[in-house]
Amino acid sequence: MTSRHRVPLRHVRSLFPANHPLTSVAARICRHSPDPCGPCWERAIRDDERVVVEFELPREIEPDRFYVDEIAVERACRGERVTLTRAERRAAVAALHDRGVTPTRIGRLLYMNDQQVRSALNAISQPKPQLRAVA
Ligand SMILES: [Zn+2]
Repeated sequence: MTSRHRVPLRHVRSLFPANHPLTSVAARICRHSPDPCGPCWERAIRDDERVVVEFELPREIEPDRFYVDEIAVERACRGERVTLTRAERRAAVAALHDRGVTPTRIGRLLYMNDQQVRSALNAISQPKPQLRAVA
């Protein structure tokens, strides 16, 4: 790509938000700037497209609403502002609760209000069907 095709970084950022699925790929490729540059985004997208074509993968993937991205959950647990699905938010609350983190602190780490934290904790602590030992 020649310099006359260079796209200003702010435009690249607006086209590809931080939670774009190829953000980490583009960031790994790019050695030009802290945020992936336009040409590196293009390479990440083209590489991704090659895999789709080569393995005849579906272009649109149906999101599994129960899928939990454990890396996103762990990042959220460290207080990073990460976009989480409902299942991931619940997993993050459960992980922090298991570590003995108070509900107030959980709310601060996950950017949730008291009501949201309480609701998630209630959902986690719902009694599960008991298995009984048969003598
Ligand atoms: Zn680059």
